[in-house]
Amino acid sequence: MQSRALRRHHEERIKRRVKNYYGGLHRDDPRRVGQMAHARKLCSCWMCGNPRRYFNEPTLREQREAARRRRAASSAHGVPHAQP
Ligand SMILES: [Zn+2]
Repeated sequence: MQSRALRRHHEERIKRRVKNYYGGLHRDDPRRVGQMAHARKLCSCWMCGNPRRYFNEPTLREQREAARRRRAASSAHGVPHAQP
């Protein structure tokens, strides 16, 4: 568990950082700044949201992990493959 001082330091640091997100759109709205500090994506529409929910597809992160596993499996069996 990090100290209270460190937690506050990071909270302030992240808030300073996200104030400039979306062209500084929510810079003057402390509530929005706090929301962005905790969840960068304020929107869950079909373009921003989880693709499983809308298209029944894995997320980008899951696709990357699946590709990594495929590369690892093929190299374990001696099949040559391109390095990332
Ligand atoms: Zn959206």
